[in-house]
Amino acid sequence: MTGLTELTIKQALDGLERGEFTSVELTEAHLSAMQAAKNLNAFVTETPDQAREQAKASDARRQKGEAGFLDGIPVAIKDLFCTENVQTTASSKILEGFKPQYESTVTHNMFDQGAVMLGKTNLDEFAMGSSNMTSAFGNVLNPWKRKGDTTDLVPGGSSGGSAAAVAARVAMGATGTDTGGSIRQPASFCGIAGIKPTYGRCSRWGVIAFASSLDQPGSFARTVEDNAVMLRAMAGYDPKDSTSVNRPVPDYAAALTGDIRGLKIGIPKEYRVDGMPKDIEDLWQQGIDWAKEAGAEIVEVSLPHTQYALPTYYIIAPAECSSNLARYDGVRYGLRVEGETLDDMYEKTRAEGFGDEVKRRIMIGTYVLSAGYYDAYYNKARKIRKKIWQDFVDAYQKCDVLLTPTAPSAAFGIGENMDDPVKMYLNDVFTVPASLAGMPGMSIPAGLDQDGLPLGLQILGRPFDEETVLRASQAIEKAANFTAMPQLAAKIAA
Ligand code: GLN
Repeated sequence: MTGLTELTIKQALDGLERGEFTSVELTEAHLSAMQAAKNLNAFVTETPDQAREQAKASDARRQKGEAGFLDGIPVAIKDLFCTENVQTTASSKILEGFKPQYESTVTHNMFDQGAVMLGKTNLDEFAMGSSNMTSAFGNVLNPWKRKGDTTDLVPGGSSGGSAAAVAARVAMGATGTDTGGSIRQPASFCGIAGIKPTYGRCSRWGVIAFASSLDQPGSFARTVEDNAVMLRAMAGYDPKDSTSVNRPVPDYAAALTGDIRGLKIGIPKEYRVDGMPKDIEDLWQQGIDWAKEAGAEIVEVSLPHTQYALPTYYIIAPAECSSNLARYDGVRYGLRVEGETLDDMYEKTRAEGFGDEVKRRIMIGTYVLSAGYYDAYYNKARKIRKKIWQDFVDAYQKCDVLLTPTAPSAAFGIGENMDDPVKMYLNDVFTVPASLAGMPGMSIPAGLDQDGLPLGLQILGRPFDEETVLRASQAIEKAANFTAMPQLAAKIAA
């Protein structure tokens, strides 16, 4: 059956319900697309057998009138979520071959609602990166290319495999995690939508930890509405995660009224950074105009500590990572390289198992946490983090959501920015502040740059007000009417 990979999740759910096709057919169409898009290297592990079984079970449930709200939908899972008996690697050599004996809460919730898993997607090693270049299993390619140019581009990171799979019409939706921008930035680079909910909204249980006070699962899909459906299936209170928040999960799709009249949209002046490409400036202005036309009120706001967000993040995230990654010692998981003594074994295992970026972060992290520097770096960063949070609290006195660009550039070429970590870290300049504040944010594809590459706009919102974030995002989505497709997806569909 052709055209099935073109459907949105919402359309597919309607089609399944009307009996126009089965989940088995929908799943087969996506498994074929997965083979056709193999060159993207979006998956670390493909799980076609499991997908077929789940699809069959879904069709049976639907027959009985027992379908859940993601029933029969083929999705991809970032390889940072533990999946029972299915290899889970965090794209690190140190975890190669690791098969968890348990299911992460988020994937468990999704399967409970009938999701079909196509496979586990590639990412930057332990979710550290903005380009998907640091994976131990090779980089992921962005399905988009510049007009008239064959250069391979990065999909963004760290959830690059998930974003590429959704953009290439291989998966209808995908999970991601966002610690400092890893859902929003790849969504922007790949021309799809992605939401990082409020910290505590989706359980972190069974998600391999990078920086625990920042990590938050979220979703990718091609439309805002599809993200609303995904998020509803993923979210929920989980007593197994001490930072999970006990609040009912709203029907996010029902909040998409299409009406943003009177909504106050803040424009943070500090996000006008030097050297931002004109295409992105223009798109931001276009977004402001769209919001006005839709009846929103635009207000200028200030987030005065924005300039400290990146340095603060790059102290806190490595600090937490150095502690979290101490558990990979050759004893409990994955790789073990024997040594003469126990210490020698630890050292050899970690030297061989971790890639350069992970090692860099562990070293920065242990440094900022060391007795002599703890106050100078780590404690100071924690204080600034509080101020960044306060900036948002103050801004949300004046407005309901914020509108900003998602990233300071479009997708860049494979290998670019690799020589200079600081340049790579600049990718996160617009996404990191909301991560430090634990507040929700979404990226929506809003236009193309001069080279024909997608650019995203970002909507940030108040804690646990994903509904307003989604509603405002949908208004932008509607105005932008983004219908461009990556060349590869167009080819597969043809
Ligand atoms: N690019 C950021 C980093 O490298 C964010 C990663 C993430 O959100 N997981 O830390």
